[in-house]
Amino acid sequence: MSQSLVTMSYIVATILFIFSLSGLSNQETARKGNYYGMLGMAIAIVATALSASVTSYVILIIALLIGGAIGARAALKVEMTQMPELVAIMHSLVGMAAVLVGYANFMDSSLSLSGVEKNIHEIEIYIGILIGAVTFSGSVVAFGKLSERISGKPLLLPGRHWLNLGLLVAAIFLGRLFLQQTETGGGTLPLLLMTVIALAFGVHMVMAIGGADMPVVVSMLNSYSGWAAAATGFMLSNDLLIVTGALVGSSGAILSYIMCRAMNRNFISVIAGGFGTGSGGEAAVVEGEVQPIDADETAQLLLAAKNIVIIPGYGMAVAQAQHTVNEITKLLRDKGKKVGFGIHPVAGRMPGHMNVLLAEAKVPYDIVYEMDEINEDWARVDVSIVIGANDIVNPSALDDPNSPIAGMPVLECWKGGTTIVLKRSMASGYAGVGNPLFVQENTRMLFGDANATMQAVLKALKG
Ligand code: NDP
Repeated sequence: MSQSLVTMSYIVATILFIFSLSGLSNQETARKGNYYGMLGMAIAIVATALSASVTSYVILIIALLIGGAIGARAALKVEMTQMPELVAIMHSLVGMAAVLVGYANFMDSSLSLSGVEKNIHEIEIYIGILIGAVTFSGSVVAFGKLSERISGKPLLLPGRHWLNLGLLVAAIFLGRLFLQQTETGGGTLPLLLMTVIALAFGVHMVMAIGGADMPVVVSMLNSYSGWAAAATGFMLSNDLLIVTGALVGSSGAILSYIMCRAMNRNFISVIAGGFGTGSGGEAAVVEGEVQPIDADETAQLLLAAKNIVIIPGYGMAVAQAQHTVNEITKLLRDKGKKVGFGIHPVAGRMPGHMNVLLAEAKVPYDIVYEMDEINEDWARVDVSIVIGANDIVNPSALDDPNSPIAGMPVLECWKGGTTIVLKRSMASGYAGVGNPLFVQENTRMLFGDANATMQAVLKALKG
């Protein structure tokens, strides 16, 4: 394929990626956005495979087959609840690719650059490996935390901010040394040392994040993976990779900012770690009497209500209760009830998790509301049903300054009529904090797997 055709294909792919991102920003156009992305990626792969930079088709085909097989297997096998972990581990692969491409470039003796060009190329290598290594180790730890292989509790080393600062200064110093040594054909040692430091920094950064602040880290690593890809693009002189990496990097950064705003967190404080650990005092212990309820009583409450709000959380994803929830919604709406869904920005385990589940179950978009819209309306709500949610409806976020989730806005369902909470036990949620909502006067607990209890409620409603 001629170079101009490759360039043309790259421009088309870039445009498709931009359309894809714009499509993904809205539920109604998200499907189309996905198609644009797939088409753009297919064009990018074909154009790159047919470009003059490919010298061995055998290696390329073997790599495509192995990568494609692993990707297809992961996509077919993964449960919806494991999606956030899959995303995290995918980010780690982008980071690892940047590190490997960086080292391959460093060792490539066929490049004969000199002067400023040489310096720029070396800086690209250094920064590419730095970002790649942080992304890699940070994403592996995020994977561990999301899959609960590593505890969600923040690891708070003494003097951790100084440690981070020390690592940063060391990385800058080693960068200078690297540039000096490459003049005489060396540079391996500072590069290796920096890689170890970057890996340690990635681990430390994510280990220090408290459970409830993980959403910011996930979106931040998403952003880092974009910058790692862009750095790879610079090293390989591949314009498409640079543009695509920058698109992912900047959209991830915007998402991190939105997440921080939604959680009332300061971005720098979250990154510096130790957020999500409260202000030092003991979080209040939850005391009071739990009032259980059964499926028949729940159905009666729903039939007597006019205005109902459903709050889905991570447990709905675990129970895969969204289809039953949709059936109940249809039935109640047919009976003339007003039913709406309240979506917290960090509900579930990845941004937009609940919206994806509800869209999959075909819940109409126009009855799915954001937290702020719902929070203005509680006085008019007769019954709210909390389905497998915990942290996002925890009043202690507002009342207890020592709570690890203090300051995070929540869905204030206790301000409405009766709240029915569906979960299996009194266990805490991802942030590991007790929830006083469960013992409030107007709260009823419907214990059991959310899908099984919702099925029972549906049966009672029909009966
Ligand atoms: P939580 O993790 O706070 O609570 C989920 C609840 O669901 C648990 O208390 C659990 O209780 C219940 N549950 C689990 N399985 C079932 C089941 N089969 N049937 C019924 N209930 C079930 O989830 P939320 O959605 O309320 O909050 C999200 C949390 O995750 C926040 O802390 C957020 O910061 C964090 N997070 C969010 C990310 C994002 O991007 N959205 C990423 C990473 C973390 P029980 O065991 O008693 O059933």
